[in-house]
Amino acid sequence: MPVELVIPPGIFRVRLPLPFTPDHVNCYLLTGGQGWKVIDAGLSTSDSCRYWKQAVRGLGLEWQELRAIYVTHYHPDHYGAAGWLQRQSGAPVYMLSEGLEEANRAWGNYEELFANYGAFCYLHGIPDRLIDRFMANLERIAYMVYPQPLVTAIDGGGEVKIGGLSYRVLRTPGHAGGHLCLYCEQARLLFSGDHLLPAINSNIGLWPGGESNPLDSYLRSLREITALPIEQVLPAHGNPFGHPNRWIETQVKHHRERLRLITRLADPGANAYQICRRFSGRNLTGHEIQFVFAETLAYLAYLEQAQVLESAREKGAIFFRPGKKRYYRPNAIIKMGGDLDESCQKGRGVNA
Ligand SMILES: [Zn+2]
Repeated sequence: MPVELVIPPGIFRVRLPLPFTPDHVNCYLLTGGQGWKVIDAGLSTSDSCRYWKQAVRGLGLEWQELRAIYVTHYHPDHYGAAGWLQRQSGAPVYMLSEGLEEANRAWGNYEELFANYGAFCYLHGIPDRLIDRFMANLERIAYMVYPQPLVTAIDGGGEVKIGGLSYRVLRTPGHAGGHLCLYCEQARLLFSGDHLLPAINSNIGLWPGGESNPLDSYLRSLREITALPIEQVLPAHGNPFGHPNRWIETQVKHHRERLRLITRLADPGANAYQICRRFSGRNLTGHEIQFVFAETLAYLAYLEQAQVLESAREKGAIFFRPGKKRYYRPNAIIKMGGDLDESCQKGRGVNA
């Protein structure tokens, strides 16, 4: 059965397959209190729907007792089957208002989405044949986000009751602008969505129409998590884990190193696609390149905001090159992993 009890007596993980990397998504089903509730929905594929039905039948639950569907963010592997779950049960679907806006922008009008994304890729130097691959990938994914749910917006900082316990809704922008985590102080438990993942780095990407500096948001959101007493993290990919602050420290270090590398790759000047190719290596699928490209743009945006890089439009495309500052003042979270001033100077030094 695709369902396993992860925290007795009533927190179950429903592990659904994905047709891309990572190869699965964890949704959570919580019993206890009034009815049962769900955190994240998975992709809307025949496999996901079959697994959900098996889980519900296996636990002896009734669809009409599903009281709430919380979606951590608008990405297809979390939001895709929310409409299907809602059709089965009539349950409300809850997201942050920023998450709802992102879902509408991404999945509300495909024609507009494709046109905006194509123009955006072109501006950043993506070759036509690769833009075609990106579009084909988007189209394939769009079929797995159906039907659209009716979403009720909730506020960050509010409390919700799940399985007889109280959870605080945490706004954790970065991986997506409208990303939420659910935190139970009493159980010292965090449902982290894609904000904290144990085995892979959360992809922090810049997408058209999205946040202008997602990496900065992400590092700030991570910092807020460090202040919470958490014993166990239940992530959307991978296995449950403890000691999140150790993990966060590793992440900060990872991003510092990447910022240093991107600073070096942008010198003496290049467009985002050229930097992405230098950064990503070979043998990636179109889907993977698309995410590395978004990630590269997030680093470039961070460095541009810090004036370590600057960008200019040349012959219809955007180019990045060294900016006014040879180094910048790290914000408080990045200091956790050491001094970025020094890292950036070293990065430049390699090129000099
Ligand atoms: Zn995900």
